[in-house]
Amino acid sequence: MDFDLNDDQITIRDAVTELAGKFDDQYWSDKDLNHEFPTEFYDAFAQGGWLGITTPEEYGGHGFGITEASILLEQVAASGAGMNGASSMHLSIFGMHPVIVHGSEELKQRTLPRIVNGDLHVCFGVTEPGAGLDTTKITTFAKRVGDKYVVNGRKVWISKAMESEKILLLTRTSKFDDSPRKTDGMTLFLTDLDRSKVDIRPIKKMGRNAITSNELFIDGLEIPVEDRVGEEGQGFKYIIDGLNPERMLVAAEALGIGRAALRAAVKYGKEREVFGRPIGMNQGIQFPLADSLARLDAAELILRKATWLYDNGKPCAKEANMAKYLCAEAGFEAADRAVQTHGGMGYSEEYHVSRYFREARLTRIAPISQEMVLNYLGSHVLGMPRSY
Ligand SMILES: Cc1cc2nc3c(=O)[nH]c(=O)nc-3n(C[C@H](O)[C@H](O)[C@H](O)COP(=O)(O)OP(=O)(O)OC[C@H]3O[C@@H](n4cnc5c(N)ncnc54)[C@H](O)[C@@H]3O)c2cc1C
Repeated sequence: MDFDLNDDQITIRDAVTELAGKFDDQYWSDKDLNHEFPTEFYDAFAQGGWLGITTPEEYGGHGFGITEASILLEQVAASGAGMNGASSMHLSIFGMHPVIVHGSEELKQRTLPRIVNGDLHVCFGVTEPGAGLDTTKITTFAKRVGDKYVVNGRKVWISKAMESEKILLLTRTSKFDDSPRKTDGMTLFLTDLDRSKVDIRPIKKMGRNAITSNELFIDGLEIPVEDRVGEEGQGFKYIIDGLNPERMLVAAEALGIGRAALRAAVKYGKEREVFGRPIGMNQGIQFPLADSLARLDAAELILRKATWLYDNGKPCAKEANMAKYLCAEAGFEAADRAVQTHGGMGYSEEYHVSRYFREARLTRIAPISQEMVLNYLGSHVLGMPRSY
């Protein structure tokens, strides 16, 4: 058993740590409070070639695996950039997996090099108000008319839609009731987010405010058939392929925020003196932080196992789900404890732990809730009856 990172992975970790370190906590606090996209940070990562870490070399990327992508996103989050930093690039890094595997050569040549060089911003449109986690119940409908599709419907929570030129959009092309299996009849497109046909409205939300999340009202959006990813009716299967790696990447981001929070808490615990001694001398402060270190390190191990399994072509659904669950719990707990360690100042914006707390909370909800992860483990791994 080898727990060491290889030379490439060490180089990636150190280079990302150095680049992300150029953007300090104050930069992220300002971006978050002003609801401003972190353009300078995103451009720096695009110029460094990092957005193409997993994209095949023929489309301008580096062709690394999920292990390397998870190291990248963990270090981004751990720098203090948190989910604001990670979400600015998350979709460019692995979200195009369905296009890489199932898209036409023409679609790939037209989009992937521009995504890698940072010029093309993309968002991912799956969630709908009426369907929630039950994706098969989406109703946004793409009707084939000659050599194009006409789309009508509504999406919700679509991150970065305001900044994006294109959307990876999941629609129905057959109604739920007309589909032999509930996962049939869905079609995926990578297409222009034409503002004359799509009304994009940002949602006011708890945190991660440098990156918008939006409601989309789609009214007669025309999509040329060349923008379809793979075959009509197969879209659900295409996105399912990418769900395990996505869980691993969010796990890495949660882990990174936990590390940032723990670092801040330890620093404050050593510096802040009350009752004539540093608060970190009190076991009521020190033990929860030591416990978080143990939980973050343990969660990291299951994440490393999951990414290794995926990169070696082995089944990884159990480990991907466990990694998402355990990293999200450990990251959030560390952020909560960092707030507590800071006392009243934990509730201010000055020490940044309240921002970490808000962003860590998100990893327990999206892209899949902790309950649905447990549902998967309960029914698929333990063989208990399904509730969904
Ligand atoms: C900031 C943010 C950014 C997002 N970005 C995107 C994006 O870019 N693109 C996109 O498509 N989506 C995005 N989402 C949506 C996100 O993926 C969903 O919010 C998430 O999957 C949960 O779905 P829901 O909100 O519809 O919850 P619901 O389906 O309404 O569920 C509500 C609660 O009930 C629980 N629940 C439901 N059924 C069961 C069951 N059988 N057993 C136990 N518990 C159950 C759920 O776990 C959850 O806690 C984003 C969400 C947020 C908050």
